[in-house]
Amino acid sequence: MQREVVSSPALLVWCLLMVLASLLRAVFVYSPQHFTVDHDAETRLWKFRLGVIVAGAVWGSSGFLLFPADHPQHLMFLIFVLAGMTVGGVASFSADLISAVAFSVLISLPVTLRLFAAGDNMSVAMGMAVLLYLGFMIVTLRRINRNVVENIFLRLEAAAREEKLREGNQRYRLLLSHLPVGIFHFDTDLVITYCNDRFADMLRSSTDRVIGLDMKQLKQQAILPGLRKALQGEMGYYEGHYFATHSVADAWIYMSCAPFPNGDGTIVGGIAIVQDVSEHKAAEEQINNLAFYDPLTELPNRRLLLDRLHHALAASARSGKEGALLFIDLDNFKSLNDTLGHDMGDSLLRQVGQRLLACVHEDDTVARLGGDEFVVMLEDLGGHDLEAAAQTEAVGERILATLGQPYQLDAHEYRCTPSIGATLFQGHRLEKEELLKQADIAMYQAKKAGRNTVRFFDQQMQDAVTARVVLESELRKALEKQQFRLYYQIQVDRTRRPLGAEALIRWMHPQRGLILPEHFIKVAEETDLILSIGQWVLDAACAQIKAWQPEARTRNLALAVNVSAKQFRQRNFVEQVQAAVQRHGISPVLLKLELTESMLLDNIEEMIKTMRALKNIGVQFSLDDFGTGYSSLQYLKRLPLDQIKIDRSFVADITSDSSDGEIVGTIIAMAQNLYLDVIAEGVETEEQRQFLLGNGCAHFQGNLFGKPLPLEQFEALLKQE
Ligand code: C2E
Ligand code: MG
Ligand code: MG
Repeated sequence: MQREVVSSPALLVWCLLMVLASLLRAVFVYSPQHFTVDHDAETRLWKFRLGVIVAGAVWGSSGFLLFPADHPQHLMFLIFVLAGMTVGGVASFSADLISAVAFSVLISLPVTLRLFAAGDNMSVAMGMAVLLYLGFMIVTLRRINRNVVENIFLRLEAAAREEKLREGNQRYRLLLSHLPVGIFHFDTDLVITYCNDRFADMLRSSTDRVIGLDMKQLKQQAILPGLRKALQGEMGYYEGHYFATHSVADAWIYMSCAPFPNGDGTIVGGIAIVQDVSEHKAAEEQINNLAFYDPLTELPNRRLLLDRLHHALAASARSGKEGALLFIDLDNFKSLNDTLGHDMGDSLLRQVGQRLLACVHEDDTVARLGGDEFVVMLEDLGGHDLEAAAQTEAVGERILATLGQPYQLDAHEYRCTPSIGATLFQGHRLEKEELLKQADIAMYQAKKAGRNTVRFFDQQMQDAVTARVVLESELRKALEKQQFRLYYQIQVDRTRRPLGAEALIRWMHPQRGLILPEHFIKVAEETDLILSIGQWVLDAACAQIKAWQPEARTRNLALAVNVSAKQFRQRNFVEQVQAAVQRHGISPVLLKLELTESMLLDNIEEMIKTMRALKNIGVQFSLDDFGTGYSSLQYLKRLPLDQIKIDRSFVADITSDSSDGEIVGTIIAMAQNLYLDVIAEGVETEEQRQFLLGNGCAHFQGNLFGKPLPLEQFEALLKQE
């Protein structure tokens, strides 16, 4: 453009300067860092500034070299270009104030000076305008420079921060995945949102499979309460066995979880830390085992026995039930050790331990004190000494029988018997050690008594138990030796006319004479002998009914038979009764079964079913000892009864105790409402009879009319009537 108004040499020189300046800047910019000796920022900045200054100077020189003095149009063009370059320079170099100021001053100052030098008004005015423009430019530049510098610093800072954050995050993840504990995060829906590798390992799964798992669906829900606690803002814990749902993993874990709040404090999930403490637990268990168990037999040792005894005493004090200690010592164990060696001795002790366990309930304790001494602790026996003693005796006998069986010791068949000492405990009457000593002393008594036997510490107890054992064995023989008899107690109506009798069993003992049922029915019930005794009574009663048929006087007498709960609950009881009735060919209405209220206590539905079946055969029912049990009216209504028998304890005081009188009155009224007969038993006086009569009772039984009598005497009594 300037070719026409500026001399060619000037233009050429300017162009050459421009090319040189550009080359210099290019060298500065592109010179590779590692080729330059100094590459610190300061030097580079100064190099940059030098480049800018040179470029500014070359551009500025155009104001001198390319100044078209007499061509206003071209002059405008030049000023315009230089102003544009100034703006461009200011914008580009605004980050470095020195570069930008130097560049704009170097560009604009020469042309201004040249304009002032021209001297004419127009030029001076233009020079002033350019100066003004430069001034504004520099003022603006300061602000732009501040902004740009600030901006750059902010960006650098942000980048540095981000880098640090990324590093921190990476370190955190690395830490989490290498931690020896399992960690997982979960959201408020109990879905796992993150877990580390260790946690996935613990579950024998992979993090991909664990993340996203909905813990509400887990088979084992035991950990959920702890997690939910964290969601409620508290710390949650779980310790125990954990079985995984989606794998075979199972471990003893300790888990603690904390709530996870977001920025404004709302809980958006939780963090759980899980430790696998299986090994720790196993070690603990092993230590525990060593401290509390006998390593040879794996039975509790003395220490654990005493601990359990302590608890048993407390439990017994609470429940009122008795317990027992059986001290067991093997007879002649030392000689086995001496002849067959210790290995065989150990083997025998292990087998004895196993057999003892088989003799007792799961909750009872079998312990080995050492050597050939074992202790069995029984709990929850009866509430009475005799009952508990009988149960203990039974276990003792079982142990004698079980341990007396031959043992296989390698090729040898070995026989060995124990001696057993027993003592009972109830509450904290005696110290633990004292009890153990009592059982030990009793064991020595058993040894003295000839071994292979059970002895009680308490002599009275021993006597009672011995008597019971004798009774039991005699009772077993009584049936086959035909020592039982039936006695008959008359039952009469209002006018004392005989209606029938209650059959009551008696035992004619060869030495002790007549024994009343109260002395043997309980033992018979406990040993199941009652089943065969009951069967005998039923059969004898049916036979008697049959025998009474030919005579008019006895033909219509009904015979009441007492039935025990155990007997009644036999599965084939209905068939038994039916068979007896058929065998003797009697009318079933003459047979009356006396049941007691205590039978109602368990399984009332089953009882009603049996009663209905018997009712179908045609037999009658009387509810014995009424008033002493727990009959509720509800049940009473549903039982197919014919008669209620007022217990003799009420009848006894009927005239002296007004409340007994009222009770009897109420029972009679209630029975009438239910269309049931009422019979009063134990009527001994005329006064009692009158009272009962007055209250509407129509049937009577008691010594007033006749005691229970053997058959001949009963028949004689009938003839008197
Ligand atoms: P229970 O069924 O309540 O029998 C009535 C008891 O009252 C009989 O006692 C009888 O002798 C007695 N007794 C009758 N009248 C009077 C009286 O006026 N005054 C007094 N103080 N007592 C009187 P026993 O014969 O000793 O029988 C006692 C219990 O033994 C019976 O009570 C019954 O539960 C049971 N029992 C008797 N025989 C058998 C039987 O063959 N089988 C079964 N399972 N239990 C029987
Ligand atoms: Mg009875
Ligand atoms: Mg009774």
